[in-house]
Amino acid sequence: MISLEKIPRRSYTDGSTPLEPLPRLSAELGGPQIWIKRDDRLGLTQGGNKTRKLEFLIADALEQGADSLITVGGVQSNHCRLTLAAARREGLECHLIVEEDLGPEGTGLGPAGANPPEHTGNFLLFDLLGADSVTVFGNGSDLLREAQALADRLRGEGKTPYVIPVGGSNVIGALGYVDCADELLKQINAAELDVAAVVSPSGSAGMQAGLVVGLHGAGSEIPVLGINVSRSRSEQEPKIVELVDSTADFLGLPPVPRDHTVGLGDYVGSGYALPTEGMVEAVRLFARAEGILLDPVYTGKAAAGLIDLIRQGRFGTDETVVFMHSGGVPGLYARARAFD
Ligand SMILES: *Cc1c(COP(=O)(O)O)cnc(C)c1O
Repeated sequence: MISLEKIPRRSYTDGSTPLEPLPRLSAELGGPQIWIKRDDRLGLTQGGNKTRKLEFLIADALEQGADSLITVGGVQSNHCRLTLAAARREGLECHLIVEEDLGPEGTGLGPAGANPPEHTGNFLLFDLLGADSVTVFGNGSDLLREAQALADRLRGEGKTPYVIPVGGSNVIGALGYVDCADELLKQINAAELDVAAVVSPSGSAGMQAGLVVGLHGAGSEIPVLGINVSRSRSEQEPKIVELVDSTADFLGLPPVPRDHTVGLGDYVGSGYALPTEGMVEAVRLFARAEGILLDPVYTGKAAAGLIDLIRQGRFGTDETVVFMHSGGVPGLYARARAFD
C-alpha cells in the first residue's frame, strides 16, 4: 500500500473523475472495449492532468513560504494555464516563461518573433487570468535557465519565488498520478473490469511515471502504454524511467522493473504540437462517435496511437483498454487550421 497521507496537498477537484465506457467508439473500431478516464474534467480553469500534479506542487510551494510561482512551457501550454489558475486560487503571483512553437516544417528553431503566438486558446487565457508576466522566447531556448534568472530577480525584490519545471514533472508533481492510479484501480474494481492496458500520452512524463509507480506499488500488473507527443522511443523511455525510479525511491517503494516503461514514438509526426493525419482522424472520430473533444497536441496523438494499435490487432475484442483523457481542449481552438 502506498500512503500519500503525510504529504502536503491542496485540493482542486471535487471527488474522482469519471471512468466511462465508449461503446460507440469501440463498435466503430471493432476492437477491444474502450473506457476513458476523464481527467479533462479535473478542477481549476478548464481542467486537465496538470491539476493533479499542482495539488502537490502548490502545497510544497506554500510549505516553503512562496509568494510567487514561475513556470515554463510552450505558448499554448496547458500546464502554464493551470499553474496560473492555481495561483489565482491561492492568491500567489505567477510568471510564465514560454517558447514559440516549432515552425510548420519542424525546423523552426530560432529567435523570439520568428513564430509569434496568436491571442487565442491557452495564450488568451494567460491574459484573462491575469498572469503577472508572460515572456516569450524563441523555440529551443533554455526556459529553465530564464526561469532561474527571473527567480533571482524576484528574490532581489524581497519575494519568495517557487519554480515549477516543465509540465510539473518532478517527483512532487508525479505524486498526483500515483494518487490517480489508486483512484483508477478502485473504479476498475468497482466496475469489475479486467484491463489489458492503460494508454496515456507521454510528454514530460509525470503522468505516465506516476501511473506506473502507483499501479506497480498497488500490486497491479496493468501495463501503461505511453504514446509520445514529442520524442522518439529511445529519447523518451530514459526520461520516463528516471522519473519512475526517483518517484518510487521518494515513496520508499521497491524499484519498478524496466519493462514497465513503454513510450511509443511512432505517432509524434514531424514534432511537438505539429499536426498529423492520425491526430486529425482521432479527434474527429472521438467527437463524432462519442461527443468527446480531444486536443491536437496530446490526447489527439495518443488516441491516434490507440487506434493504430487496435488496427494492428494488438488487443482482443473481449479485452478492455483504458484511455487517459488528460485534457488540453483549450488548445484545440488555437490549432483549428489542422482541421481545414
Ligand atoms: C501536459 C499534458 C500531457 C502530458 O503529460 P506529461 O505528464 O507531461 O507527460 C498530456 N495531455 C495534456 C492535455 C497535457 O497538458
